[in-house]
Amino acid sequence: MSELPQHALPSYLDPNALGPWGVYLEQVDRVSPYLGKLSKWVETLKRPKRALIVDIPIQLDNGNIAHFEGYRVQHNTSRGPGKGGVRFHQDVTLSEVMALSAWMSVKSAAVNLPFGGAKGGVRIDPHNYSLAELERITRRYTSEIGAIIGPNKDIPAPDVNTNAQTMAWMMDTYSMNEGATTTGVVTGKPVSLGGSLGRVEATGRGVFVVGCEAARDAGIPIEGARIAIQGFGNVGGTAARLFYDAGAKVIAVQDHTGCVHNANGLDVLTLTKHVEETGGVAGWPEAEALDPNQFWTLETEILIPAALESQINEHNANLVKARIVVEGANGPTTPEADDILTSNGTLIVPDVIANAGGVTVSYFEWVQDFSSFYWTETEINHRLESMMRTAYAAISATAQKHKVSLRTAAFIVACTRILEARQVRGLYP
Ligand code: NAD
Repeated sequence: MSELPQHALPSYLDPNALGPWGVYLEQVDRVSPYLGKLSKWVETLKRPKRALIVDIPIQLDNGNIAHFEGYRVQHNTSRGPGKGGVRFHQDVTLSEVMALSAWMSVKSAAVNLPFGGAKGGVRIDPHNYSLAELERITRRYTSEIGAIIGPNKDIPAPDVNTNAQTMAWMMDTYSMNEGATTTGVVTGKPVSLGGSLGRVEATGRGVFVVGCEAARDAGIPIEGARIAIQGFGNVGGTAARLFYDAGAKVIAVQDHTGCVHNANGLDVLTLTKHVEETGGVAGWPEAEALDPNQFWTLETEILIPAALESQINEHNANLVKARIVVEGANGPTTPEADDILTSNGTLIVPDVIANAGGVTVSYFEWVQDFSSFYWTETEINHRLESMMRTAYAAISATAQKHKVSLRTAAFIVACTRILEARQVRGLYP
């Protein structure tokens, strides 16, 4: 029998992997040269610490039995318990959850939160199931992963197609199994159950804060700055309102229903009302409709993709005229587009820092649950802004020192923190 090389990866970690895990591995390879002596530990970043696949059988409302596949991956816990959302989506795969868990390790470390990275998923299109069925799926999934989650082990949160109600079911199921009410096992809970004030707006607020920092570095005043935003949901909608309140001109908003544009600036407050009433920006009478492809070509100071992944890609990156791109969404810029934008002189504030406001307030929620002492919304916003500014400053300084992009700098800062913790803890046994 031939021997495997010493560092052979487990079979499920194909080093030539495509898709999100492959992208992540490439990002780690780009950072390795900057890790100095810590690079001896870099293999630790290329494999998840723990990956659990579970079967979730439930009884459907019609009496039939259905099985779903669920995952929980803890990529790294060197700096603290795992942290990351649970996604319900029909296309979720182990490989995708691995990549998302790894990006959570990077995000937590980039903002200097005492967390590692984790992520969960269930392969299901939740739109095809009743609320009662979703509750049974959530509870069985929680029980199946119960052995590896906990306030000191791994703390799930909402992600695509899961919400505060999902977290309430998870918290209740975990608490029932433990025989003790354990609010700190998940974040993103309803406020009535130990959730944090300010959590709903946290990601958009973080986008605004780091967007302002980047604009200052680029010599762009926020007052009068032209902003285009893709996505007018939780992240994009909040960021739009905060920039609007600060005197910027939000000149275009695109969502799944269409795109609205006014070179003199949109009234974000009445647009928000229209979206609440109709479900999207299309048909808003106070602005002209714009071909969604034209959206990317607008002359702006700041472009905020806050909807889906891979929206700025090799097909449209050359058309982008924004001076700064602030990544509200996760992975909105493909690696090819990243290179094009950078060579065109566009400053990209990467997702791992730009949208880290959500996990930062999740951290505050976890801390508040531990102490059973709850902070005011003003306190939360103040602490969030301060942590985001500090994180941005550290990453910006690293970018200047090594003459690299903010994305590479964020990875350098984060991977250094993770591997320093790994090294000082040492290997057991
Ligand atoms: P959301 O569901 O509240 O809003 C999504 C928005 O995207 C909606 O306005 C929708 O119309 C728009 N959209 C959907 N498909 C589109 C398409 N094909 N073209 C244009 N627009 C489209 O979601 P959200 O919570 O605002 O999340 C947006 C992004 O931010 C996601 O990538 C998410 O992973 C990321 N993110 C969210 C949080 C958070 O706390 N909510 C934290 C970190 C990252």
